[in-house]
Amino acid sequence: MDTQYFERMESEVRTYSRSFPTIFDRASGAHLWTVDGKQYIDFLAGAGTLNYGHNNPALKKALMAYIERDGITHGLDFWTHGKQDFYQTLEDVILKPRGLDYKIQLPGPTGTNAVEAAIRLARRITGRSNILTFTNGFHGVTMGALATTGNAKFRDALGVPAMGAQFMPYDGYLGEGVDTLDYVEKALDDGSSGLDNPAAVIVELVQGEGGINAASIEWTQRLAEICKQRDILLIVDDIQAGCGRTGKFFSFEHAGIKPDMVTNSKSLSGYGLPFAMLMMRRDLDKWSPGQYNGTFRGHTLAMVTAAEALRQYWQDDHFEQEVQRKGEIIRDRFADLAAMLNDSGHPASERGRGMMRGLVVENGDLADEITEGAFERGLVIETSGQGGEVVKCLCPLTISDQELIQGLDILEESVRAVIDKR
Ligand SMILES: *Cc1c(COP(=O)(O)O)cnc(C)c1O
Repeated sequence: MDTQYFERMESEVRTYSRSFPTIFDRASGAHLWTVDGKQYIDFLAGAGTLNYGHNNPALKKALMAYIERDGITHGLDFWTHGKQDFYQTLEDVILKPRGLDYKIQLPGPTGTNAVEAAIRLARRITGRSNILTFTNGFHGVTMGALATTGNAKFRDALGVPAMGAQFMPYDGYLGEGVDTLDYVEKALDDGSSGLDNPAAVIVELVQGEGGINAASIEWTQRLAEICKQRDILLIVDDIQAGCGRTGKFFSFEHAGIKPDMVTNSKSLSGYGLPFAMLMMRRDLDKWSPGQYNGTFRGHTLAMVTAAEALRQYWQDDHFEQEVQRKGEIIRDRFADLAAMLNDSGHPASERGRGMMRGLVVENGDLADEITEGAFERGLVIETSGQGGEVVKCLCPLTISDQELIQGLDILEESVRAVIDKR
C-alpha cells in the first residue's frame, strides 16, 4: 500500500488515519473496503455522520436524479426548489408531528457554524455575552464554539484566551447521587457566585466526543425549567445525538422539552454531505438581513439527500423503534463485555442512549488496545472521552442485525484477547 503522498503532503494535524492506517476506497451500508479490497465493518460511521449508512441507495438515487437534471448545486442562499422541498419535508415529516414550530437558519455547512450562529444570536437577543456550557461538552472548534468546548487539546490550540463561556458540571460529573443542577441553580441566583448572568445554556443531551454521557430525563427537564424561569435561552446541540441516533429524531424528545434553539448537522444530509442548520423559536429570529453569512449556505445537494432521508425513514415510527431495538442489542452486549472485564479485574461499565453507546474501560490505553485489536479483525471503531477511555459504538442506524452482531462479535474477540494478554 503506497502511503507516501499522505506522509509527505498531509499535515500532522490528521487524526483518524492514525487509528486506521490504511487507504479506504469504497463503502456501502455498514461496510468499508480498502484499495486492496480488505473489508471492514464500520462502527464509526463518520463520527455519527452516516446514520443511514454509506452511499445509501435511496439517497443516492435522489441525488443522481437531481444532478442528472442539472438541479442547482450551489445557490448561495437563493430560494431553490431543492431547498423548498427540504423545508416542506422537514415541516411535514418532522416538526409538525412533534408539535414543534421553528424557523430555520442555514449557516455554513459544518456543525461549528450552526453553534456559532446560535450563540451569536443568543447574545444579540439578550444583550448578555456569557454562555453556560458543561464539562466534557464538545461544540466545535471555531472561536466562539471552542469557548464552549471542554477538551484542553482543542482549547490549547486557540492561541488566545477562550472567552465568553463558563463551565458547569454535567449530569453525573460529581458521581452518583449528586444533582449537579443544585450547584447551577444556586450559582445563578447568588450574586457572589462569580457566574456572569448568561445569555444561553448550550448542552448535548448525550455527549458524543466527551464520552457518551447521557443526561438523565429528570436532569434535562430540570435544566429546561431553570432556563425558562430565568429567561436564559436553552440551546440543545443535537449535531451528533440528533437524526435518530438516540432512538428519537431529536435527542430532546425523550425528555419532552422544547429547546429555544437546536443545532443539527452530521447526519442531517444523510449522505455524508456537509450540511448544518440552526432551528430557532419563531420569535427569536432577530437577525437582520445578511448579518451572518457563508458561501456554502446553499449546498443544495445536501438538501436533496436530507429531504429524501426524512421521507425514507421518518414518515412513521418504524425506524425509531428499530433504532431502539438495536440499541438494546448493543447495550446488552456492552453490559456483557463490561462484566467480562470486571470479572478479570478491569473495572468497566456501559452507558448511552439508543444506538449511541459506550463501553467505559479503565483507561485510554486499554481502550486503544481493544480498538486496535478490533481494527486488525476487521472492525472500525473509535474511542472518546476525556482520556479516550470510552469505546464508542456509532454504527449506522440502518445496519442489519447480522452485521451488527458480527461487529459486536469482533469487539468481544478483541476484548478477550486484551484480557488474556494482561
Ligand atoms: C461534531 C460536533 C460539532 C462540530 O461539528 P463540525 O462539523 O465538526 O464543525 C459540534 N457539536 C457536536 C455535539 C458535535 O458532535
